[in-house]
Amino acid sequence: MQTAVLPENQLGPAIDWLRRGEVVAFPTETVYGLGADGLDAVACAKIFEAKRRPSDNPLILHVLGLDDLERLILGPVPALVRALTEAFWPGPLTLVLPSTPEVPAIVRAGLNTVAIRAPAHPVAKALIEALNRPIAAPSANLSGRPSPTTAQAVLDDLNGRIAYIVDGGQTPVGVESTVVDCTTQPMTLLRPGGLSLEMIAKVVGEVQLSHPEGPDRSPGMKYRHYAPEAPVIWIQSTDRDFVKQTLDALKREYGTVALASPEPVSWQVNGGIESLGPDGTSAAHRLFCALRRLDRGGPGAIAVVWGSTEGIGRAVANRVEKAAVGRVLAP
Ligand code: AMP
Ligand code: MG
Repeated sequence: MQTAVLPENQLGPAIDWLRRGEVVAFPTETVYGLGADGLDAVACAKIFEAKRRPSDNPLILHVLGLDDLERLILGPVPALVRALTEAFWPGPLTLVLPSTPEVPAIVRAGLNTVAIRAPAHPVAKALIEALNRPIAAPSANLSGRPSPTTAQAVLDDLNGRIAYIVDGGQTPVGVESTVVDCTTQPMTLLRPGGLSLEMIAKVVGEVQLSHPEGPDRSPGMKYRHYAPEAPVIWIQSTDRDFVKQTLDALKREYGTVALASPEPVSWQVNGGIESLGPDGTSAAHRLFCALRRLDRGGPGAIAVVWGSTEGIGRAVANRVEKAAVGRVLAP
């Protein structure tokens, strides 16, 4: 299959393709998504196939707003859910609610809940509006790889596997949406993301960090994720002496060490260096791109210096933790 990259002002072929039950990659404000008609099970199966996603990892349905959500869930919209959509939609917040049977089982990975979000990106909104149906869309990477924040990153993973990528430049948020299970009391944070826990708590009060029924409630979180080719090592501190000593030890162990670090980047390494900027928001925006870029140099390891779990920093820490699969060094 030939993969064509469409400019964002030429959505016609992408819309036709979606209407024919096929998949299209497109920008959202979080990361690029790989979308298909969310009420068409056959179309949604093509998403799993193209990105080699395990079938027990459910998809998020992308909608325009509360009216669409209402049609996809069982029962009335709870008051706190309404309040969250009023405060944060469109935006990087995904809500998990009891699903109507009309949502194909493949989208829900057989669960009786469905994950729904209203994206803010004009391209995503235009595609949902044109299709006039929810669009199911996970991140447009091969499963396990860092999520794509540029059309080039989508192409690097999916060239030849999908027909169209809409190029909307680099995505502003850079990490995926925050996923909240609204079926528990209090609500449960299933995945930290582009909207901070602090912001959500301002609207709903308490949010619990682990699910009473165990970690399997968000099936996607158990997989190896966000990982480049080179092993990632998370240096969970910005203490100058600790980082310096750790990088020296990593150079002895891995040879070439590349580095992603918040500013000021005052460490020496013998591989590439990427700045994550001054705060959590900039780090979220840059992290996946930095991992992909550093990986291209073929280093022995990629060290990521990151200490904060405040605000969007929580999502950055979560992605680095998953990419590092247990290789965490702390003072
Ligand atoms: P992705 O689309 O790759 O950003 O991943 C979607 C995330 O949403 C994964 O972590 C899923 O486990 C989670 N998710 C989607 N649907 C549900 C659901 N019904 N219940 C719990 N988590 C869900
Ligand atoms: Mg993903």
